[in-house]
Amino acid sequence: LADRDGVIWLDGAFVPWREAHLHVLSHGLHYGGSVFEGERVYDGRVFKLHEHSERLVASARHMGYGLPWTAAELDAATREAVAAAGLTDGYVRPVAWRGGDTLRLAAPDATVHVAVAAWPWPRVFDDGPRGIGLHTSRWRRPAPDTAPVRAKAAALYALGALAGQEAEAAGRDDALLLDHRGRLAEATGANLFLVIDGDLHTPPPDCVLDGITRRTVIGLARDRGLTVVERHLDPAELDRATEVFLTGTAYEVQPVTSVDDRTFPLGEVGATLARAYAERVRAAEDGTADDPPDSADSPDS
Ligand code: PMP
Repeated sequence: LADRDGVIWLDGAFVPWREAHLHVLSHGLHYGGSVFEGERVYDGRVFKLHEHSERLVASARHMGYGLPWTAAELDAATREAVAAAGLTDGYVRPVAWRGGDTLRLAAPDATVHVAVAAWPWPRVFDDGPRGIGLHTSRWRRPAPDTAPVRAKAAALYALGALAGQEAEAAGRDDALLLDHRGRLAEATGANLFLVIDGDLHTPPPDCVLDGITRRTVIGLARDRGLTVVERHLDPAELDRATEVFLTGTAYEVQPVTSVDDRTFPLGEVGATLARAYAERVRAAEDGTADDPPDSADSPDS
């Protein structure tokens, strides 16, 4: 990924892709405080761009620092990065970190850097509407008083990387993490939904990431007359689920056909919402307008 042509937006200007370096003594590298976003470009346009930019700003705030750019300025930088890459469909990775001024842990005045990279990217599991298999991880999503769970921060992805690696070693596609209470939480990069008696059930975002796709899909489901219940889910409730699926920027609406030794069919609810989501992400009229709100969008993400 580091060795390719192109440019990356770094601290307000474009630099050649291969020269977008940071110093080895960067605070963000040593202490896990960097924050990032994952965004998708559909038809040349970043879906829910402003919500992502706002979440990046909020994540930095949760990690104790401010960004030198507003969400609106990040929107503009991202559009420039997408345009510079000539992207029609792709992925965008904004990232922010404290720089190399100091390795003191408390570094409120350290320089904060921001980069935005954009590149063509296929779907995560791009072989049609196949279901994926999850492996329940021994790593748990921590409590809000144990880790800054509201931030999309690198520190939390150390757990995701361990869990994902173990799942792949077990021959599965991804990990399912429980939360600190032992309830169902999320996959390494996606939120979880169960279909029980025709209704959708999903954990509240009190220690899982408040996913932008999750909110969009909740809105799409309610628009279609489906009931969506946000509540804590016991792992044993998987026995009652007739369908399981994940939602995320990269995963979109991804059916799950097994969790450990339980199996689930590819069901109609997930398929309907996957189609609705695929239409929704391409529904915008042009490349600059903000997305119209979905019914479940909340302003404090
Ligand atoms: N949970 C985690 C841990 C994630 O990394 C992601 C991907 N950002 C999600 C959920 C889904 O969030 P979103 O829909 O905003 O991509």
